[in-house]
Amino acid sequence: MSEHRIIAVIPLAWGQDALLATLGAAQRVSAEAGCEHEVILLGDSAESDLVPGAGFSSATRVQLLVHGQLADGENPLALASAAAQALAGQGAQSVLLVPPGAEGEELAAQLAAQLDATLLGRCTQLSWEDDGWVAERSVWGGRRTLSLRLNAALGVACLRLGKADSGGGQLAPEVVELGGSLPLPLELEQTRSEQRLAPVQGAGLVVSGGRGLNEQGFALLEEIAARLDAALAGSLPAVDAGMVPVARQVGISGHFVSADIYLAVGISGTPQHLAGISNETCILAVNKDPAADIFKVANVGVVAEWEQLLPALLEQLPG
Ligand SMILES: Cc1cc2nc3c(=O)[nH]c(=O)nc-3n(C[C@H](O)[C@H](O)[C@H](O)COP(=O)(O)OP(=O)(O)OC[C@H]3O[C@@H](n4cnc5c(N)ncnc54)[C@H](O)[C@@H]3O)c2cc1C
Repeated sequence: MSEHRIIAVIPLAWGQDALLATLGAAQRVSAEAGCEHEVILLGDSAESDLVPGAGFSSATRVQLLVHGQLADGENPLALASAAAQALAGQGAQSVLLVPPGAEGEELAAQLAAQLDATLLGRCTQLSWEDDGWVAERSVWGGRRTLSLRLNAALGVACLRLGKADSGGGQLAPEVVELGGSLPLPLELEQTRSEQRLAPVQGAGLVVSGGRGLNEQGFALLEEIAARLDAALAGSLPAVDAGMVPVARQVGISGHFVSADIYLAVGISGTPQHLAGISNETCILAVNKDPAADIFKVANVGVVAEWEQLLPALLEQLPG
């Protein structure tokens, strides 16, 4: 009989949403895969308000690892190191599930590094097929799905499948007091950027140019971006030509943007560029070629030369 199983690893300092989301994923995946699931909670005290309300009823084992350095849950190195102590010597074919979200993805990476496990990352599904775990990941802004078969003994994934069923906390956690000291957080040095424009990541409005523009075109785009409080971006050829810094490249080998609006000027719309734009983003395209591929995905398309359109647009914007 196969010994595959799911192990949820959850820092209690991350709150109830993280707890219930991770338990929810563990419950659903293990029920569909016909396997057991265990829970490892990480905290600084044997008493936690969250534990009694959590749905541990379908878990086969719940451990609460306690250490003073886990109080704020802000040090992924310490969290991963604590969990790794409980996970040492785990049998084959387990997948660790950590809370979905940016913090969880960082913890997943630390766990994978410390346990020599395979990082499956942000998954949309996890299933047991033909005696192996198969994870699905959404790529290219949701336009494609990757199926990853886990070949290593241990995988680490973030998965959001809804909250846990509140089955009551019938299973009391085994409390394990961890001794020694855990790794200290990395020291971060913050420096102020001299850039006057917002970074591409997290921007709500992105103004982007391609090979169809020249230096004058990018100067106009930069001014438009500044007036709209938008981020300036570019395609790979625009970066290669030195018209926009590589930190602002959008695409498969650049950044992924999930802005509300993406203004694409002089960009043809290749799959490599579109891979960097979320499916949810509204694309406004300006291109002189009515047959340009960008018009197939744009929500609004304008057939025009930037030399006419950009100065006219700038004139309309408050200085
Ligand atoms: C492994 C790999 C990774 C890659 N990664 C990326 C990536 O991350 N990002 C990326 O962007 N590309 C990437 N590429 C490159 C990609 O294949 C394309 O070459 C690139 O996206 C094309 O950029 P573009 O649209 O700016 O240029 P083009 O395809 O040359 O399009 C220029 C457009 O400008 C229009 N135009 C010209 N003059 C005007 C004018 N006066 N007014 C208005 N429109 C005008 C043209 O009609 C044309 O549609 C990658 C390629 C590979 C092989």
